[in-house]
Amino acid sequence: MTATRVLVLNSGSSSVKYQLLDMRDSSRLAVGLVERIGEETSRLKHTPLTGEAGSREREEPIADHEAALKAVAEELAADGLGLDSPELAAIGHRVVHGGLKFTTPTVIDDVVLAEIQRLVPVAPLHNPANITGIRTAQALRPDLPQVAVFDTAFHTTMPESAARYAMDVKTADEHRVRRYGFHGTSHAYVSRETAKLLGKAPEDVNVIVLHLGNGASASAVRGGKCVDTSMGLTPLEGLVMGTRSGDMDPAVIFHLARVGGMSIDEIDILLNKKSGLIGLCGDNDMREIRRRIDAGDEEAALAFDIYIHRLKKYIGAYYAVLGRVDAIAFTAGVGENAAPVREAAVAGLEELGLAVDGELNSVRSDEARLISPEYARVAVAVVPTDEELEIATQTYALVGDRNA
Ligand code: AMP
Repeated sequence: MTATRVLVLNSGSSSVKYQLLDMRDSSRLAVGLVERIGEETSRLKHTPLTGEAGSREREEPIADHEAALKAVAEELAADGLGLDSPELAAIGHRVVHGGLKFTTPTVIDDVVLAEIQRLVPVAPLHNPANITGIRTAQALRPDLPQVAVFDTAFHTTMPESAARYAMDVKTADEHRVRRYGFHGTSHAYVSRETAKLLGKAPEDVNVIVLHLGNGASASAVRGGKCVDTSMGLTPLEGLVMGTRSGDMDPAVIFHLARVGGMSIDEIDILLNKKSGLIGLCGDNDMREIRRRIDAGDEEAALAFDIYIHRLKKYIGAYYAVLGRVDAIAFTAGVGENAAPVREAAVAGLEELGLAVDGELNSVRSDEARLISPEYARVAVAVVPTDEELEIATQTYALVGDRNA
């Protein structure tokens, strides 16, 4: 029997998202999510995709990641897709921070795990959960290759001019302060799919990718390689996001500490969890914000304008960084679904060769598609992202079919 399945695990601090894929045709066999791990109200939602059966839910306390993964393994086994199957080729883990060392997907051994651990100080919210997920999966299937696919990897091609902050070099190096970028798996996938949509090789196109989800980031991709991205040392820098501020004068932090009497932890929570759209208008869901704008709500309208203003600044900046732009690609929850965001982001940029066709923009579809009019010099595209497929593809490419 050949091993063609890959289990993709995305372990957060209190959640695990998973997908089981068959790499013969990249089809999904099962998807699911464990939420609120460690709380009384944990929940597992499992959806098998091989037969007619619908989703199943478990609502029971799930104490830790080990219990979560065991529960996932039980659900998969109930569908005949157990982790003990010889058809399982590897487990692919999303790892948020790979620092400068990990530029490609990597088979995990003790040395690799120690290096991911060493990066915890620069990714305190994410890497510990990723490590727990890896350790738990290793315990379940010690014989199986486990592969780390890093969110930062795609951005390691950024030149030093884009990656360094203008600060004392010695201090920066001592504390590994530089711009790493995130959402790399999505930027890699979407930039490649955009080239495909244009009928060209990735090496031949320059693309600005706008990953607009609850977290949001932009990247400038020249010939398939990232040359700049909007997130930095952490995912806080750059665009206005659902709950994160994005760019601001760093002196705001000193001011809030000295004059506002806030602690560093309070400011951290303020800027990461209570800012961005939710800080500006109390909502972080673009659907609700648009509904409020349509009802005449000025607070929501201002939040939308601030969001668009920042987005436009990055389109302009990355246009200048790239010199020649072949396409702008919108992706993730907002980018794929919010036509008014796409329209507003490129409005008034006709001199740059950018335009959106109202009719094409209003079409709802799960497919990658162009929304610019034929005459436009730069293609504007909507390209649904698929981070799990990308992780599975990269994992399988590395590990291949062990039993072939
Ligand atoms: P993501 O982080 O990629 O899952 O994106 C989640 C965000 O996408 C939500 O917070 C919403 O703001 C946005 N979103 C999802 N569906 C829609 C929609 N139909 N229209 C507008 N925004 C949407």
